[in-house]
Amino acid sequence: MSDSNTPLSVLKRVFGYDSFRGEQQAIVEHLVAGHDALVLMPTGAGKSLCYQVPALIRPGTAIVVSPLIALMQDQVDALRELGARAAFLNSSQEWETIREVENAFARGELDFLYVAPERLLTDRCMRLLERGRIALFAIDEAHCVSQWGHDFRPEYLGLSRLQEQWPDVPRIALTATATPQTRDEIAQRLGLTQARHFVAGFDRPNIRYVIVEKNDVRRQLLGFIREEHAGDSGIVYCLSRNKTEDTAEFLCREGIDAMAYHAGLPAELRAQRQARFLRDDGVVMVATIAFGMGINKPDVRFVAHIDLPKSVEGYYQETGRAGRDGLPATAWMAYGLQDVVQQRKMIDDSTGDEFFKRRSGAQLDGMLALCETVQCRRTRLLAYFGQQSEPCGNCDVCLTPPQTWDGTVAAQKILSA
Ligand code: ADP
Ligand code: MG
Ligand code: ZN
Repeated sequence: MSDSNTPLSVLKRVFGYDSFRGEQQAIVEHLVAGHDALVLMPTGAGKSLCYQVPALIRPGTAIVVSPLIALMQDQVDALRELGARAAFLNSSQEWETIREVENAFARGELDFLYVAPERLLTDRCMRLLERGRIALFAIDEAHCVSQWGHDFRPEYLGLSRLQEQWPDVPRIALTATATPQTRDEIAQRLGLTQARHFVAGFDRPNIRYVIVEKNDVRRQLLGFIREEHAGDSGIVYCLSRNKTEDTAEFLCREGIDAMAYHAGLPAELRAQRQARFLRDDGVVMVATIAFGMGINKPDVRFVAHIDLPKSVEGYYQETGRAGRDGLPATAWMAYGLQDVVQQRKMIDDSTGDEFFKRRSGAQLDGMLALCETVQCRRTRLLAYFGQQSEPCGNCDVCLTPPQTWDGTVAAQKILSA
């Protein structure tokens, strides 16, 4: 490997960064050497570089499997801006464009080819891949292969074929949401049995986790904001659209600069509110989970849940939007057993099949365990992602050990009723 083609020199020259973060370099070297990897890192940690750097070092084209067409377009645009030769194939394209991309690949003129899984597995695409040289396969959002995950996509199941057909091409699977159970499922279903696992820390030490018993939740929320985060930017998550509006109105009446956000609002109004949240200081967005994906505001000081999230993955992702700048931030939640009863009923009454119901129930149980724990919240949260840790000193349980309310007994009573 010449000096200009080492991982670090590619990182600097092409991407303009000075150093790798965390395990990035080890992962890059592992792939460059031709081995398989399974990478688990939280959102925003920098998973893309783990395959993008080796793609530029190894001869041939990197085939990147990605489930979302919009994301694909963004990534390809970003890579082109950096001077890399990148293209994508998906179902939204004109025939002409598809031909051009295919020819470019076959002639060895691409560094990256992004493909949606359902297209990759077509005969046409498999034959195409035989005609070019493949640097590596990257399977992004690999948790989509897990039926137990929150984002199962049946198309992902076919991806084990890659290993059968190209046993010598290194593969890297990446995800932000994997419990030990899903991790094993990913490895097994993608045939990644030889892969080395790289697990980054999921801890966000600057976030203080607080879960309070719910009674008069609006008053509790108001008290929390006034006492601990007056004038700060924050996000309040609710389950229903109506509740976002009611709560935003309530907060406004109490002198807090709050706005509602949900998928039922006109697109224009949503864009306007989102822009205001990003631009102005101290705006509180009261939202359903429709808000947040792809929002990058570093100084969100708190995330509050006034309804119980449906899964620990969701809770982790939503609370993770607080304190991206590394400064102290709070993840606050009001939790009542009534929420659990209501969500169980919603699952029971839903039109989903038996499997959906079982999975949703298991996800709710995980969330319940976090709420009911008498251990450190962070220890419990990290344990969910398979990571061991000592009591953190920065959560409600560590700061004020519980004695007053025996939630476990109460929970058992209600849940066994
Ligand atoms: P993920 O896929 O893990 O959610 P991304 O790959 O999208 O994360 O990266 C998140 C952000 O971090 C991007 O803006 C990326 O450019 C930046 N980033 C990643 N690695 C580094 C690094 N070593 N130095 C500086 N910025 C980085
Ligand atoms: Mg990513
Ligand atoms: Zn703690």
